[in-house]
Amino acid sequence: MLHKMAIAIRDLFFPHYCLGCAADFINAKEVICPRCKISLPETHFINSSHNTIEKIFWGRIPIEQATALYYFNKHGLVQQLLISLKYKANIYSGIFLGHALGKSLAASSRFNDIDAIVPLPLHPKKEYKRGYNQAMIIAQGIQEKWAKPILEKSVIRLVDSKTQTHENRISRWENMRNIFYISDPESLQNKHILLIDDVITTGATLEACGEAILSVPGTKLSIAAVAYTL
Ligand SMILES: [Zn+2]
Repeated sequence: MLHKMAIAIRDLFFPHYCLGCAADFINAKEVICPRCKISLPETHFINSSHNTIEKIFWGRIPIEQATALYYFNKHGLVQQLLISLKYKANIYSGIFLGHALGKSLAASSRFNDIDAIVPLPLHPKKEYKRGYNQAMIIAQGIQEKWAKPILEKSVIRLVDSKTQTHENRISRWENMRNIFYISDPESLQNKHILLIDDVITTGATLEACGEAILSVPGTKLSIAAVAYTL
């Protein structure tokens, strides 16, 4: 009863129809219909080494494997799902995207030896304002399809890079290096970490966080995102 009420209350705030084509749903946890799901633009990077995402990090930080599941097209459905997750508090969008990424990771032999998932941390102030970290929601979706531990508290974000880029362009690189702080090195030591984010663009923030993780002895780093945009 309580669960039904919770869904009823949720439906007051979230659409009960496909975010892609507006078809009606019966299951309130769905965010898009099967037809729209099939239409999502998959990159198929997951099984190819030297893919576009791995090349982003060449010469920057040592990466074992990297992938992004979908292409991010402006005004496309992937963007809509991410907006719904980040700005409309629709965590079901994030769980849906996490499930899709988790299934592809579980099916790929290239990501077999990952020990733990680290969602890219948000600055605590930003997380408080939003109420959650969208990368953590995606990680939870991944975990439901691919049972790997999530290390949410091992890395802390000290600076919100967006505000910082406006403030200081000259020493941006110097600042990027100090965005992240390892609060629990023992939890990362000697592990192969999969760093998760929603969208990869330049990879600068992931690089900064990855560099912090790789400063812990014995760590290896891989990266996965829901979407890739030029
Ligand atoms: Zn649809």
